[in-house]
Amino acid sequence: MATVNHSASLIIGKKARFIPIEGQEIPKFCFGFARYEMLQNRIKNNKVLTDYIGRVDKNYLQPTTTNKILRKVAMTDEWKNKVEITLWPEMMHLIGDEVVVGDIVAIMCAQISKHNGRFQLESTHLATVVVNPECPHIADKIARLKALPPLDEADNNDPLITLQELKSPTSRKHEGVTRFRCRSWMESIDINRRWYYVYCSTCDEKVYPEEDGELHFVCKDCEDVTPIFKYSVNAIINDSTKPIEVVFFNEGMEALLKITCKDLITKHGCTDPKKLPQQMALMIGKSKIMHLSLRKENNVVVTNVSESETTVQVDSPAQHVASSALPPATPNLKANKFKRPHAESGESTQCAKKTHED
Ligand SMILES: [Zn+2]
Repeated sequence: MATVNHSASLIIGKKARFIPIEGQEIPKFCFGFARYEMLQNRIKNNKVLTDYIGRVDKNYLQPTTTNKILRKVAMTDEWKNKVEITLWPEMMHLIGDEVVVGDIVAIMCAQISKHNGRFQLESTHLATVVVNPECPHIADKIARLKALPPLDEADNNDPLITLQELKSPTSRKHEGVTRFRCRSWMESIDINRRWYYVYCSTCDEKVYPEEDGELHFVCKDCEDVTPIFKYSVNAIINDSTKPIEVVFFNEGMEALLKITCKDLITKHGCTDPKKLPQQMALMIGKSKIMHLSLRKENNVVVTNVSESETTVQVDSPAQHVASSALPPATPNLKANKFKRPHAESGESTQCAKKTHED
């Protein structure tokens, strides 16, 4: 079965001979990049594999609901469309953490799907990846990708709504959209649950600490594993419209603290998964733009955190219960232990644990 479009095929018969070619540069890859308009017709079409190239906007690991970890690379293509590479665990080795924002990444033999409104270039067993390819015949493409405008704040196109809107399906705007931004703050952290997990570098399963004097992890299947530390923090966030339960995934907590989970554990000595690190406690009450992803059974995951803007544009304000930028005039008085003027609006606001600060 043909998986790529061939204009000709080569039939190797009995009399064929193979003559090694020596001393010449033979290109390792033959790119046949698809155009963006071609992707729609290739969704879940496993007969056509796709080559695609883009500029890296974000490179991160994403846990799935089944405790697997996927490598995700958000990219902008040469026509400024947003696409994502998704590498399944067996192909995660194709892209490592060394691939950074601004790199040019070409993926070959990907399958196309759509997730959260974005085309996904999913790894197949045939997939290969070239980072910053140098080929004369794609020099124009590379130049166009390098000339793309720099990335503004990640995910800034996601709709900005209040937490109350997020939690009320009847009033939820943007039907079918699962990624939102909310101007809100972390109100409390559920420390009865662990704030981090450790995964095996080889099989991506969870690993467990072993007591031998120092921090050491064992995998039930692999030997000599390198532990991969990932935040997973259950917390309440609030924007004065409605407190909601969320889970900060690794990239969300890393963006909030600006410290990797590995550094917090190994350099700052916060090794107890049920003891709240001071670095995390200090972020309680700080107003941020939380990037939220609505998952199965209405679970909400914080996937990124960016700085709170001074002027917040909320779309269709007419339907809007209360702007997250301006807390309502009658907040929860039961929790009104601390009171301080709001830094931006001059109005006062409060949340259960601490004053809302910017
Ligand atoms: Zn393992």
